[in-house]
Amino acid sequence: MNNLKTRQQKWRERNRDSVAENQRKYRANNQEKNKEYRNRKYQKQREIVDSLKKRSVCNRCKFADYRALVFHHTAEKDFQISSRIGKVGTKRLMEEISRCEILCANCHTIEHHPVVSK
Ligand SMILES: [Zn+2]
Repeated sequence: MNNLKTRQQKWRERNRDSVAENQRKYRANNQEKNKEYRNRKYQKQREIVDSLKKRSVCNRCKFADYRALVFHHTAEKDFQISSRIGKVGTKRLMEEISRCEILCANCHTIEHHPVVSK
């Protein structure tokens, strides 16, 4: 199996142009299928993110309506969670979420406001 993979990889490396051309053709011929796949992936990850928020409260004020909860990065930020749902792998999405805390929209706005306290 490993040997086969290696041979395939070598062949793909030698034939980059035709591989790229075949991929372009496949995408052009399967637009509906790709669209359905992306929608399913988006819905699946949306459900994961929403169910996580539904089980959580704001880390500062304990507000609990999941519709107003956001992910605030407490460690190095690679990307904004909400903008990448359905666009990255689920593992990568969950890794990014693990570098966040959950805040409500108010506490998140205050967290990023230039005036530290009123
Ligand atoms: Zn809050």
